[in-house]
Amino acid sequence: MKYKFQCLKCQNTFDPNPLLITCNETSCCNEVFEIVYTTNSNNAVLEPLIPLLDSVNLINMGQGNTPIIKLNSLSKEFDLNIYAKLEYMNPTGSFKDRGSSMMISALKEFGIKEIVEDSSGNAGASISAYSAFSKLKSHIFVPENAPKNKVAQIELYGSKIYKIPGPRDNATESAIKFSKQNSLPYSSHNLSPYFIEGTKSFGYEVINFFKNEQPNHIIFPVGNGSLLIGSYKAYKEANQNINIPKHHAIQSANLSPIVFEYEKLKWNPEDWTPTIANGIAILNPPRVKQSALVVSNTKGSAISVTDEEIIDWQIQLAQKEGIFAEITASATFAAIKKMQKNNIIKNKESVLIPITGFGLKDPPKNFN
Ligand SMILES: [Zn+2]
Repeated sequence: MKYKFQCLKCQNTFDPNPLLITCNETSCCNEVFEIVYTTNSNNAVLEPLIPLLDSVNLINMGQGNTPIIKLNSLSKEFDLNIYAKLEYMNPTGSFKDRGSSMMISALKEFGIKEIVEDSSGNAGASISAYSAFSKLKSHIFVPENAPKNKVAQIELYGSKIYKIPGPRDNATESAIKFSKQNSLPYSSHNLSPYFIEGTKSFGYEVINFFKNEQPNHIIFPVGNGSLLIGSYKAYKEANQNINIPKHHAIQSANLSPIVFEYEKLKWNPEDWTPTIANGIAILNPPRVKQSALVVSNTKGSAISVTDEEIIDWQIQLAQKEGIFAEITASATFAAIKKMQKNNIIKNKESVLIPITGFGLKDPPKNFN
């Protein structure tokens, strides 16, 4: 094997195993893993290192290589150079396809034929689609109150759906229980280190596009931070003589554990209220520390915005730039003004924003 699993807490390394999802050391309290390679990257080619025995085993449903466009009206309005990376142009309409393709490809290499996952939306749809493509049976646990459109998409691809009443965490507990009872790998997009390795392709594409003039800032809507972490890993791994953009994490003010972690405040999972930005509403993100570390390592910031601001920006994006972003993906734009006011972003700087999901995933309720 050319790679190992490494616990983010004790730093011990383990041989890769699809059934090993968190660290077994008692003091580590189920800490998550990341993948570390025992081979070096080939900087000349500028391609991500991938955790597969053979790169031909990477499932290709057309994920990645999403367009980067300049947002002219908003650039003028804010006196910035704002670029959008259209992640909704991935096969299932969200960036999650980058992670799913890698995770499912790795599981297939291990001979896995059946998986268990819990998701309230985009990751579930993505994993369901990639499972269908690669003839894998998938059991997806969703909260009973998950958005109907998202659940319909998961179901359409042929996954077996389990609707679990109660808070979001109940779906996770049920999925873990089911996986243990049936000896099936719990293939959580929030926990799997393979998922993050897939999202690295985002960072490589940005590096290749901007070459010697990388953006000053990349602003991410963040739930568990997989795109933020993958992007940073890409910049570190590519090891080019370029400036790493400041990585900013945006959350909903109703539910912002990563902002709390970054601010070194105590997050109490009971202190939350429902948010319209369901794609970034994760009460206990397993990669909360890792996400906050990426923000501080790149001298970025972690900021929360209100639901009203998010709703307003979904409309502004559509009407000023013709972009129909998923409500969650509009949160980043709601943060720009605050960041300028606090001197986090200065006039004329360049800003890249991933539009992480497509608007029809969870259409606005106030339009007919
Ligand atoms: Zn450990």
